[in-house]
Amino acid sequence: MEIYKENQLKIYNSLTKSKELFKPVTEGRVGMYVCGPTVYSNVHLGNVRTFMSFDMVFRYLLHLGYKVRYVRNITDAGHLENDADEGEDRISKKARLEEIEPMEVVQRYTVDFHETLAEYNFLPPSIEPTATGHIVEQIEMIKEIMNKGLAYEVNGSVYFDVLAYNKAGNNYGILSGRKIEDAIHNTRTLDGQSDKKNPQDFALWKKADDRHIMRWPSPWSDGFPGWHLECSVMSTKYLGEQFDIHGGGMDLKFPHHECEIAQSHTCSGNAPVNYWMHANMLLLNGQKMAKSTGNYVLPKEIISGDNTVLSKAFAPSVVRFFNMQAHYRSILDFASDALEASEKGYYKLMEAVNSLENIAAAKTSTFDIASWRQQCYDAMNDDFNTPVLIAHLFEAVKLINQLKEQKASLNTGDLDLLKNTINAFVFDVLGLTNETKQDTSDKIDGVVELLIKLRKEARDNKDWALSDQIRDELLALGIQLKDGRDGTTFSIN
Ligand code: AMP
Ligand code: ZN
Repeated sequence: MEIYKENQLKIYNSLTKSKELFKPVTEGRVGMYVCGPTVYSNVHLGNVRTFMSFDMVFRYLLHLGYKVRYVRNITDAGHLENDADEGEDRISKKARLEEIEPMEVVQRYTVDFHETLAEYNFLPPSIEPTATGHIVEQIEMIKEIMNKGLAYEVNGSVYFDVLAYNKAGNNYGILSGRKIEDAIHNTRTLDGQSDKKNPQDFALWKKADDRHIMRWPSPWSDGFPGWHLECSVMSTKYLGEQFDIHGGGMDLKFPHHECEIAQSHTCSGNAPVNYWMHANMLLLNGQKMAKSTGNYVLPKEIISGDNTVLSKAFAPSVVRFFNMQAHYRSILDFASDALEASEKGYYKLMEAVNSLENIAAAKTSTFDIASWRQQCYDAMNDDFNTPVLIAHLFEAVKLINQLKEQKASLNTGDLDLLKNTINAFVFDVLGLTNETKQDTSDKIDGVVELLIKLRKEARDNKDWALSDQIRDELLALGIQLKDGRDGTTFSIN
């Protein structure tokens, strides 16, 4: 269904710093590129948050009826330890420390990445290309940039000439807003340790020193490509010289995405991306979650409960729900109490969704489902505003509870619309799975059912004191009994 025809999706474009009406290059189709992980260690929950934001974007575009080609790469070479084009390749370093082949490192962490995303119910991208699979194309792009006079070779390495790029009328800094004098990649130039003409220049090809085991032949040296190049090459190859959406974490804006624009623009003469989207950071203890500082938690440790951050284990859908309760452009603080609150909300939502099956249609409707449904779309069309969508979903939870208590009614058409809309947004768009409460919750439910039975026996025996005692003491624990025509039900707060 081409729902997009009735809906006006707006996307916040980091390039123009404004929300813009989304118009794809080709009607009905979307090309989206998202920078993938550097596979030298396990992805932490911060990485997962960014990928999950784009999984939600991918899911919503599909739901709207677009044919989406979603490309998310795997960085398996060329990403050095720092942004100054210096230090060891992250994967080589890990291989050296563990005394294994670099490709063993790549395989281990690619498998971990895929397992993690499957556990968290991600849709696979359409194409998942690797940097090492595109060395030939990267060498070709370097030649093209050199032919245009915007790159130079020094001692077997090739650098992009940022000042020449700007002199030619371009704007290096267009995305990050950095002034050219501040856009420095290498602070050691002045003491003569760099081959670069200017500290703003960045590596397209680096000559490998003797220690560097990941190397390929090229016209300039045995070496390896600069990290920024792979994304220009692979996005152009699979999505064309001008495509719709490019995403990544906020921290990739500079230098990574700024360099991508400069490289691609040099080759094609076009701005390569129409909508730049940047996801905000997940924090732990008030600081960015990051591997390098040790301030992180792994997605698997959340599911197993084997970590020092959380009070207990949480289901993957609870974590997904927690992420979706924040807008992708907002900072999000990860903490045990916040996850506990999300857990309550998630199970409340699932309980309502699951009880929909038992609700019978009435002759008339007391609730305007069509306009509620439109509000759900309006939220998502407003730059993928998942927290507002979730607020609307909880209006539906309230309605479902009223329907159960026969305080509201829906006719057949509206009831179907409610079911279809809830299922579409909860499962297809937000990507939640229908997990039932954990074991202990099930056991608590069983105990409450037993007490309800004993209370009924007490009432049948006219033992009102015991019956009231059971009701009041359960209430004191936050468990409310509700006596209805068809027996007693309960809710746990
Ligand atoms: P990397 O493997 O380091 O290239 O990172 C993969 C993705 O995770 C990038 O899009 C980063 O911007 C993103 N990322 C890294 N740290 C965080 C964080 N704490 N919160 C959200 N996204 C992050
Ligand atoms: Zn990238």
